[in-house]
Amino acid sequence: MEKNQEQGKDEWGEFLKTDSTSSLFRMKMVKHDIAGAGVTSPEILDAFMKVPREKFVLPGTKASVAYGNYPLPIGFGQTVSQPYIVAFMLEMLQCPPGSRILEIGTGSGYQTAILACMGMNVVTLELIPELASRARKTVLELYPDSGIRFIAADGYNGWLPAAPYDGIIVSASPPKVPEELEQQLSSSGGRLVLPAGSWSQRLLAITRCGSDFSMEESLPVRFVPLVRSERRQKGNL
Ligand code: SAH
Repeated sequence: MEKNQEQGKDEWGEFLKTDSTSSLFRMKMVKHDIAGAGVTSPEILDAFMKVPREKFVLPGTKASVAYGNYPLPIGFGQTVSQPYIVAFMLEMLQCPPGSRILEIGTGSGYQTAILACMGMNVVTLELIPELASRARKTVLELYPDSGIRFIAADGYNGWLPAAPYDGIIVSASPPKVPEELEQQLSSSGGRLVLPAGSWSQRLLAITRCGSDFSMEESLPVRFVPLVRSERRQKGNL
């Protein structure tokens, strides 16, 4: 540990003097797995440097595992996405601080916290009520003034009451892009980033300009399915 801290100190300066093991793993993750893999946006890198990922994984997970570049279980058969993919999707979103963002699939709340640290104005939807309330608690304990709206509901068709959005980011995969999500984008350049496809999925970014929609295809990915459920609609937490 001491050796690593000394090595880290050379690269990261004074910061390490006062910080913990988790911070070392966090810096390594940002440097090697996110910046090192090509993500350049300073707002994104800064946010990943701030959010303590260990608080969003199951209790007892070692820091080295919490900061590994892979998905991790969060209970209820769901996972928190791999850090690089979260960063990559946020870069695809291309939304400046202050944008109005709809996040579908709150899960652990990790990406919600990253969005909050980027200065976004966030509405987040989660289908599983237990995950929604746990994420709300975790995020608000860390960022009580973030102004995030947590909603326990089916987000398959977005969330009309707060539309339009500058950005919509979906953390689970529908077989096809739901048209309702496209319709809830701001008509002046709103961006929808999501995985789509059932067996073979790809990340897509859709941009709306008036009534025109353009689509870019990106990386092949493997996300949990975006589930459709009428039963679970509960509304605001
Ligand atoms: N971004 C999350 C990743 C969570 S995994 C994180 O940082 O932890 C995807 C989540 O999408 C799961 O929690 C799952 O319950 C949720 N989900 C699946 N279908 C959904 C739907 N129709 N509406 C809202 N959430 C949904």
